[in-house]
Amino acid sequence: MPEDSTKPVRLIALMNQKGGVGKTTTTVNLAAAIARSGRKTLVVDLDPQAHASLHLGVDADALGSSVYDVLIDPSADVRAAIRPVSDMLHVLPAQTDLAAAETELADAPDRQRRLERALASLGETYEFILLDCPPSLGLLTVNALTAAREVIIPMQAHFLALQGVGKLLETVRLISKGVNPRLRVTGIVLCMHDPSSTHTREVVGDLEAFFEAARAQETPWRFARVLRPAIRRNIKLAECPSFGKTIFDYAPDAPGAADYGALAEVLVKEWDALLQRRAEAPVVVVPAPSVQARASM
Ligand code: ADP
Ligand code: MG
Repeated sequence: MPEDSTKPVRLIALMNQKGGVGKTTTTVNLAAAIARSGRKTLVVDLDPQAHASLHLGVDADALGSSVYDVLIDPSADVRAAIRPVSDMLHVLPAQTDLAAAETELADAPDRQRRLERALASLGETYEFILLDCPPSLGLLTVNALTAAREVIIPMQAHFLALQGVGKLLETVRLISKGVNPRLRVTGIVLCMHDPSSTHTREVVGDLEAFFEAARAQETPWRFARVLRPAIRRNIKLAECPSFGKTIFDYAPDAPGAADYGALAEVLVKEWDALLQRRAEAPVVVVPAPSVQARASM
């Protein structure tokens, strides 16, 4: 690695202030798929409803410590709150008391950076960290956006969902102008997707046109795209949380497993390619003009 000898971590916030769009389903099953491809992966449950924890079979209210303790007490040991789901997949769970964290932290000067600090203390233990955000733009989501390098937006391709994306991007822009200039929107995951609907196809077309038009401007979503494959509506995905299982343990042959598996493959491949490019990048102290010209292309 040129400047940075530590192993990089791909830290992604799955964010949408609307509830019921597929954030938790995507966080849990995408993380499980990435872990199955051999990458050490951590899910951080930032929703007081603790759905991601339950989905991963962790009864958060029976736990000693959780993400709440980590946010409230900067000296708390993050590792003590993390629970293994499998060898490669771990979870930093939530409990219902997490709702209180927003008010308890309201006056803390470093309140936006609590999660970032906690995750930094994990060093390179995990290659992928996925943050399941609550359905709001409050302090918990702000902590996620401050800690993350990337934002993935799970959503359904409905006209009204499209309106919410503007507000969401504005929040990302504010965070990137303030505490986290490196934050980028990677793209949208289409959840509960029905490709046969004309309306759905129109909305996806609008989203793609929006991102294309944004390519010329310096925004955090300049390189964003509609990620493929879309996640089809699949009843097995709705069933598996109540068994505390990911789709890969509950119904490995279901379309939901195929879709999240394929999406994980795309993300892992692009990550490997990025690391490869970084590893091969020549360390040029004083670049020759021709190299400079090429680098700025
Ligand atoms: P959020 O975290 O954004 O509130 P969830 O991931 O909890 O959304 O999803 C909302 C509901 O939709 C849940 O009951 C979930 O099981 C269901 N669901 C999510 N994705 C799918 C899908 N692809 N097919 C069918 N049901 C889905
Ligand atoms: Mg959720």
